[in-house]
Amino acid sequence: MTITRVHAFQPIADDSPADWRTSLGQIAVRIETSDGLIGYGVGGGGAAGIHIIESILAPLLQGQSIEPVEDHWQAMYDATLPFGRKGVAIMALSGVDLALWDLRAKAADKSVVEWLGGTTGQAIPTYSTVWDDVDDETARGSSPVKLHVHPRSEAALQDRSAFIEEIVSRTAAAREAIGPERELMIDAWMEWDVPMTLAVAREIEPLQVGWIEEPISPDDLDGYRQLRDECSIPIAGGEHEFTHIGFRPLIEERLHRVLQPDVCWCGGMTELVRIYRMADGTGLRVIPHRGAEVWGLHALAALDPRPLAESGRPWMHWVAGQPSIEEEVVRIPDAAGFGVTLD
Ligand SMILES: [Mg+2]
Repeated sequence: MTITRVHAFQPIADDSPADWRTSLGQIAVRIETSDGLIGYGVGGGGAAGIHIIESILAPLLQGQSIEPVEDHWQAMYDATLPFGRKGVAIMALSGVDLALWDLRAKAADKSVVEWLGGTTGQAIPTYSTVWDDVDDETARGSSPVKLHVHPRSEAALQDRSAFIEEIVSRTAAAREAIGPERELMIDAWMEWDVPMTLAVAREIEPLQVGWIEEPISPDDLDGYRQLRDECSIPIAGGEHEFTHIGFRPLIEERLHRVLQPDVCWCGGMTELVRIYRMADGTGLRVIPHRGAEVWGLHALAALDPRPLAESGRPWMHWVAGQPSIEEEVVRIPDAAGFGVTLD
């Protein structure tokens, strides 16, 4: 079976937020083969990602066999090396790699989870990510909740102590809303620094926060070393890190207790599998970003003994066949590949 066409496009959903809809939004990848099988994947990088696929990645693959996928990954990584390694080029490559994995499993008439040694149908627990306050429906559930704590008030934007106060009061309100038993995490989205993270951690310690996510820049490894040694609350991260090469120091130096690769950005399934293998036996958890979306879900179901899937992004409804979260669990249906279409 040979690859006849690699095509990338950007589906537009009315409700996608501006940064996902425009230049750097999610892209769909469709790979056609001589046997009539079609592989689908989702990557990132918007128009720039599409340009990289059309001009560099597609010509590498067209006319080739679909296997070995890992060799194609290496060829794509090498071809983008001068401007790639992290960011948009790897986000584009991720979509192509996922489409190749979709084909790899379809060629074996298996779902991706089965190809990886797991089974379909298992109930995979989820956690909910909320951007505003905890709504009533989320408050009634029993699964973990993660709160984004981007500054809200004018005072929090201007003044660090007001920002810390706001984070503490919002975290306390979320804890109050979900009660004392459920796990609660917060996401800083790279907006803090080390002293601020330590100050927040001291203030929220009584609120039993499971992790602080991406408090500082992913490039500030020295900062993460300090947080590993001094922060009382576990640090999560990796949503904006790329390839197993980028994850290596995070794992070897245990800079994050929870690793959160995004399979649509970090280099595709090839890299997510490598990251799982590197983390295996270290005691670190892998909880992929947007893990309930099919692209990460199949790896999570097959490779993780304690899977926890983050709720997906609601505006990704152009992924047809995505299983929904029902009663706080998600199940992979019986279907070949990732079981979705993007036409
Ligand atoms: Mg995050």
